[in-house]
Amino acid sequence: MKRHWAEVKAREVEEHLERHGLESAVVASGASTSGRLHIGNARDVLTADAVARVLEDRGHDVRVIWVSDDVDPLRRIPRDLEGELDERYLGVPYKAIPIEDGTPYSDHWAARFVRELREFGIDVEWVSSAELYMEEGFAELVRRAVRDYYENGRLGSIFRRFGLKEARVYMPICERCGRIATTRVKSVDGWEIEYACEGRHRVGDAVLEGCGHRGRLDLRTPIEVNGLEVPPGKLGWKVEWPARWAYLRVACEPFGKDHYVSGGSYEVGSEIVEELFDFPAPVPVPYEWITLEGEAMSSSKGHYATLSDWAEVCHREVLRYFVLRSKPLKHLDLDLGLGLLQLVDDYDELEERYFSGEADERERRLYELTRVDGVPEECPPHVPFRFCAVVAQVLDVRGEVGSEELERAIEIFLRTGHLEEEPSGFGREWLRERLEKASRWVDRYAPEEARFRVREEPEAVDLDESERAFLRALLRRLEEVESEDPSELQRAFFDAARDADVKPGRAFRAFYRVVIGKDRGPRAGTLTAAVGVDRVSELIRGCLEASEG
Ligand SMILES: [Zn+2]
Repeated sequence: MKRHWAEVKAREVEEHLERHGLESAVVASGASTSGRLHIGNARDVLTADAVARVLEDRGHDVRVIWVSDDVDPLRRIPRDLEGELDERYLGVPYKAIPIEDGTPYSDHWAARFVRELREFGIDVEWVSSAELYMEEGFAELVRRAVRDYYENGRLGSIFRRFGLKEARVYMPICERCGRIATTRVKSVDGWEIEYACEGRHRVGDAVLEGCGHRGRLDLRTPIEVNGLEVPPGKLGWKVEWPARWAYLRVACEPFGKDHYVSGGSYEVGSEIVEELFDFPAPVPVPYEWITLEGEAMSSSKGHYATLSDWAEVCHREVLRYFVLRSKPLKHLDLDLGLGLLQLVDDYDELEERYFSGEADERERRLYELTRVDGVPEECPPHVPFRFCAVVAQVLDVRGEVGSEELERAIEIFLRTGHLEEEPSGFGREWLRERLEKASRWVDRYAPEEARFRVREEPEAVDLDESERAFLRALLRRLEEVESEDPSELQRAFFDAARDADVKPGRAFRAFYRVVIGKDRGPRAGTLTAAVGVDRVSELIRGCLEASEG
């Protein structure tokens, strides 16, 4: 039997829990809080959430943790914040950078992302890495790692085994300039570390110089930087990650595939967590990136789309579907333009199969995993998103859909055969949402050829005799159609072009010029169905008269 990948992973985690006597299934996820968190960051959490949901379904006690990596240094001023964020914060941990009302930079972005995740049906336990370091139990692990390394214990031999020469096991935060990127450990004495802020260091595109300060820190004692309380430093990533697994008792964690290479963080971390912290490495779920129109998403470069951006233009379930239908190691490219239309069609089809009982086990699991608030009581009345985008423009909807507009839209859906019967209360609300989102999609992402405005009055258009002949033939064909089904109308266009012996390309162009004043537009049958045969015929007749006048 073919199972969904989340089901396969969950069973692996189940065995892992059993083998190591772990009671609750902690699934961890996380991201660096370098700026606005986007859909690329969401793949991590959606993947964790999918495995967690299956585990929960199978009766386990589950926690989904999301860690904000907030002690990492700011490497670049994000493009969105150029001129707003001071360059002196380069090399300073995100948690030690105050913005607006004094909120740490990292918490500002993390809180926003956690709220967005909730809107997408993911309730994570948010753990700040900085706050972890300020907990006694975690500080104990930090001390163990630092002592081991500086007393030539196991850490050093693990690093040598992997050929890692220069390992920054501990990175102090300079209490004078607040930077973490410019410090070096000088000596270690129990809980105390002596450090110096010196030398030149490349951070992102900048070269930062140490401020020359020499100081002492206690691993248990937070310090104050820029008026914010932060830990005195952090472990290097390769040691921090396993310490976190042990401390939070992580049983499964998705992470970007770059950590999964031979000799990468996961492999090194697995040895460290077992040898130094006496805890088993979690079940890994490496994943590929989500690019946006072929390019890596990056908040610092300003090339990204957020969960909120998505929710404005499409049902949230479709994003969950976009991520969860493919195995984690499949590369995904997000296309919010025409690509979105196909994606929505695919999701509608899955939903129909689910409700008709045709879906197999894998598809049923997938559908349930896409849901934000559970499975609805009935199958939504699927008027295609692409048709809604046309209707929204015919009705001149701008975002909000009032009751009157909704009724007019439903009339069109019934008349064109997109609905077979009056929709229920649930169906009406669902259609309202789809129309609103489709109208915003037109505004923000639709390519030029999908945008139009139907002429209010017929106008004179420059037409030659063959184009006029086509339009007259079209009027006759439109009188004969028996329904306003878009496909049937589309056939009428081809028939009329044949009647008048005009090439279809030329025929369609004449039609678009008359109805929407452009050379191109949505499929002619679809447009005619949405506008209505009578209205379209009126425009053609009026235009023929005006043009001949
Ligand atoms: Zn300094």
